[in-house]
Amino acid sequence: MLDYHLHLWPHGQRDSAPTLEQVAAYCERANAAGVTEIALTEHLFRFVQADNLLRGFWDDEPDVALRASMAEYWDAHAHADLDDYVHCVEDAKAAGLPVVLGLEVDYYRGRMHEVAELLAGYPFDVLLGSVHWIGTWRFDDLSDPVSMGQWSARHVDDAWDGYTSAMEELAASGACDVLAHPDLVKVAGHTPEHPEECWDRLTEAALSSGMAAELSSAGWRKPVDEAYPSRGLLERLVARGVPLTTASDAHRLRDVADRAADLAATLEELRVDTLRAFRERRPVTIELGAPSSRP
Ligand SMILES: [Zn+2]
Ligand SMILES: [Zn+2]
Repeated sequence: MLDYHLHLWPHGQRDSAPTLEQVAAYCERANAAGVTEIALTEHLFRFVQADNLLRGFWDDEPDVALRASMAEYWDAHAHADLDDYVHCVEDAKAAGLPVVLGLEVDYYRGRMHEVAELLAGYPFDVLLGSVHWIGTWRFDDLSDPVSMGQWSARHVDDAWDGYTSAMEELAASGACDVLAHPDLVKVAGHTPEHPEECWDRLTEAALSSGMAAELSSAGWRKPVDEAYPSRGLLERLVARGVPLTTASDAHRLRDVADRAADLAATLEELRVDTLRAFRERRPVTIELGAPSSRP
């Protein structure tokens, strides 16, 4: 198994200097859960380099409250140094730890070319592509009343359509390797009566871009209380041969490799026997081995 989606810092907590000890502790906990390789994938928006490039992407948001909320969120997050982070993970690799260098990259409409240019200057192994906001609406920020209030002000079908469109555009940009938590829009527990059309579009986005998709246990820790993606979407991805990674999306040590055994059981039910890993953004196939040897 892999844990290809890990953060060093919880949201709402200021970043600290990344250390080899923290990465080593993540590897140790992952290994104890049967995970053989991890990817550190901190959010791009936690780094001053992203601040320099992307600050103010919310400026044309007409809703004053949403605009202010995004500005505040951005200010609270964009402080770490990308070079320090990269050096720390590269040092961990050099020390022989089973870790690869990644990043979680949000979709910035009309800005992905500049984002790709920034990231091309670093030796990333894997880039996760994510949609956490529709326009400037942070639909998954459960702690923000302004963001959560929007779920009452909008139609669920429209939210899903906007999310799916952003994922399609992100995939088409070619900037990333893996579609992270592919149906994150369900996080707060709002699902349309017929999600199948969005599932089909998300599957097509993965196929046409050649991206892998992530099977993540993080949804079990959220109000929706199920893995990402939902079974219906996962079955579509598997049926069409979209390669998968597995992930916990932990933001702290105790959640590293969370429910890896449940993810393994899901893969076994669907007869998935390989995962996709990455080296220098090139795909590598990982054999899961006999079911009995899985965690
Ligand atoms: Zn995410
Ligand atoms: Zn994440």
